Amino acid sequence: MQGLMMNMPLMISSLIRHADRYHGDTEIVSRTIEGPIHRYTYADAHARSRRLARALVRLGVQASDRVGTLAWNGHRHFELYYGVSGMGAIVHTINPRLFLEQLAYIVGHAEDRLIFFDLTFVPLVQKLAPLCKGVKAWIALTDRTHLPTESIPGVLCYEDLLAAETDAYEWPEFDENTAAGLCYTSGTTGNPKGVLFSHRSTILHAFATCLPDAKGYSAQSVVLPIVPMFHVNAWGIPYSAPLVGAKIVFPGAGLDGKSLYEMFEREHVTSSAGVPTVWLGLIAYMKQNNLKFSTLEVTTIGGAAVPPAMMQTLRDDFGIRVMHGWGMTEMSPVGTIGSPKAKHRDISADERFRLALKQGRPLYGVDMKIVDPEGNELPRDGKSAGNVLVKGPWVLREYFRNEGGNPLTPDGWLPTGDVGTLDIDGYLQITDRSKDMIKSGGEWISSIELENIAVGHPAVVEAAVIGVRHPKWDERPLLFVVRKQGCDLTREAMLDFYCGKTAKWWIPDDVVFVDELPHTATGKLSKRTLREKYRDYALPTAPVAVRADD
Ligand code: AMP
Repeated sequence: MQGLMMNMPLMISSLIRHADRYHGDTEIVSRTIEGPIHRYTYADAHARSRRLARALVRLGVQASDRVGTLAWNGHRHFELYYGVSGMGAIVHTINPRLFLEQLAYIVGHAEDRLIFFDLTFVPLVQKLAPLCKGVKAWIALTDRTHLPTESIPGVLCYEDLLAAETDAYEWPEFDENTAAGLCYTSGTTGNPKGVLFSHRSTILHAFATCLPDAKGYSAQSVVLPIVPMFHVNAWGIPYSAPLVGAKIVFPGAGLDGKSLYEMFEREHVTSSAGVPTVWLGLIAYMKQNNLKFSTLEVTTIGGAAVPPAMMQTLRDDFGIRVMHGWGMTEMSPVGTIGSPKAKHRDISADERFRLALKQGRPLYGVDMKIVDPEGNELPRDGKSAGNVLVKGPWVLREYFRNEGGNPLTPDGWLPTGDVGTLDIDGYLQITDRSKDMIKSGGEWISSIELENIAVGHPAVVEAAVIGVRHPKWDERPLLFVVRKQGCDLTREAMLDFYCGKTAKWWIPDDVVFVDELPHTATGKLSKRTLREKYRDYALPTAPVAVRADD
């Protein structure tokens, strides 16, 4: 017997319609690329998203077409989230920090018809456009006055497109399993793979991440997502904030400590979210200038482990509650968030701190287990470490175009490539990573690609790259080299060898010359041994020139 309740598909457009109808005067504030602070309301954003949907139809966009974005967190990007998905097409948020060849690959793989870009990315678009013949138009997210003068084939002006339309548009209703968003994630080797979110997965994820033990958003919250909208949909905040009617503050390209602090204070931000690296910049700026937050209460930090010193500083010096979160692009991305239970009320401050440093416990909707290398489930005792497997309605089943084949175990779980412990209460602690990747300032570096370059040097017999702790970037690559007998390869010569072969910010921070590398019984390089021994290796202290925008 079927239930007798209305069968309404979970549509992304319903979020913005709800926010318009019940929180119509709640503000969305953005630092624009052009300079001024822009402010409008959910009602305005809804009207403009509908204009955008009409403009997309006029440009020939059809259901399931991919529409790319190269943009910071701002109101126009927010409109694209709703206008594109709402009309049945797929918003493909492109990470501008990828290499040019990777960008060209994913635009081609996604078959993006249109790409909307912020003015910051004009130089990038100039290089990218000739490599992306399938893109019909490049649309600058600006008005006519600021339209780039540089030559970009088929460039259009966003504000002109919207001005030519009315907001008379009814959001279509269709199957909630229809694809709504696309986001590429870097693999250990080879090309990035696409994760295709649906309307249903996006809405369920938005519901769960709003709950009090998760991000705890409400209509009283003022949320500033530092995490970029090109990093797994800013962890879902552009969807969860309208769901509850929270005010949103978009920082644009201003991710330095000073710009962020100004936005936090001016807009009375209560809640935020970002990777540890951005918090470091903000904390340093505030300490240098002896500043305090007047309204910020809580932040989610994830994407990399929160360093204990950061947790302590935010708590003791700034009175901020840190919710440590863990997840991945393949999980939309949130899997766990840390918050105590009633039974923890009377634990000591020390125990509470140790609990907060764990990666949190699964949200309803995410199931999780840890297994040994043979796939046998390990006890939830907080001690046994194993591969972390997940399941749930916002967890990936298959990559876009079935790249890489079936990623699931025979019994339907997704291996995350992370290693950790689970305790009896479900708190996850990540202890290692089985995927051969290094996460630096929130972006991936492939250790295998760096090793392949190193062994291309005539004086190198064997090479290994691991990630070691770095005070600013969380992790940086450290290269181990076994030199050919009689060769006197130096550190400088080895690092110079990388120039021109990879992006500058991928180049290892240091080289350790060894006589031999550790191997497992089956002859495989034992990175685990290296990681255990060198995890706290003191890298040369000078910060590397990693990324211009950080
Ligand atoms: P991404 O798909 O780029 O969001 O990266 C997901 C990966 O980042 C995870 O599989 C982990 O390896 C790492 N990660 C995310 N959050 C945390 C965390 N809180 N602690 C440690 N590693 C994390």
